[in-house]
Amino acid sequence: MLVIHTARELTQAASSLGRTAGLGGVLVPTMGALHDGHAALIRRAAELTGPRGVCAVSIFVNPTQFNDRTDFARYPRTLEADIAICIAAGANAIFAPDVATMYPSPEAAPVPPLPAAATQPGLEDAHRPGHFAGVCQVVLRLVRLLESAQAIFGEKDWQQLRVVTAMSHEQRLPIKIVPHPTLRDPDGLAMSSRNRFLSTDERAAALAIPAALRAASVERDPDRAERAMRDTLAGSALAVEYAVIRDADTLVGPPRNGRGRALIAARSGRTRLIDNAAWPA
Ligand code: AMP
Repeated sequence: MLVIHTARELTQAASSLGRTAGLGGVLVPTMGALHDGHAALIRRAAELTGPRGVCAVSIFVNPTQFNDRTDFARYPRTLEADIAICIAAGANAIFAPDVATMYPSPEAAPVPPLPAAATQPGLEDAHRPGHFAGVCQVVLRLVRLLESAQAIFGEKDWQQLRVVTAMSHEQRLPIKIVPHPTLRDPDGLAMSSRNRFLSTDERAAALAIPAALRAASVERDPDRAERAMRDTLAGSALAVEYAVIRDADTLVGPPRNGRGRALIAARSGRTRLIDNAAWPA
């Protein structure tokens, strides 16, 4: 297992692979605090990589995508446990840089133009302004540093998946963005690094999120589906930020003919949770 922290170590690793720069292969970008959802992405990456390629996991709690300093400060950092999960899931390289390696200068890590999906009203940008500028910045930097041929992103962060896919097309990045379905706990809650912050009561309340997605999925009309989500969430202790039906690709809503997506963001206590599902089912 290659564990790379600095630009110098990355250059050494590249030359040991017979490359002038980067690692090539398949990348799973993460912020660490890995769980079984991440492990599924890594296993998929290892399959796509094949026996001789590089299956890399990046672990970087990216400060530029947090608009809340407290959230950034309390984000779990569990590198030793993460390394064990990466090995078990079949990764053979970990890129865990510090901030100076990722952001040595503004020129080295530009913020690309934001795809339209990033700023659709009523979604993440309304509640986390600047979040997707930070996401696009870090993904572009990772792509340029690591020169991965493919990167796997979870559907759990649906808007992020759409934004990164659009950015890679708009910026003509030499990388294929591969989506992966959401992993859930047996009770239906989407796995998340933030779930560890939930008390027993907060976790029980959070189950209204998958319940609302299920309630929406059986409604054929978008207004009725949104009402079904709101009704389900209203009976819970959650503070809802949005619960909407949008076009699955553009995130403009509601969908006219094509595929739709039901998207929810809500707080359970101090913990912000997001989830989504295909609509209609
Ligand atoms: P994060 O470390 O939370 O930024 O997530 C890293 C990657 O793992 C992102 O592409 C997420 O969408 C993905 N991911 C997080 N949770 C899950 C999950 N429960 N199922 C599938 N993918 C996930």
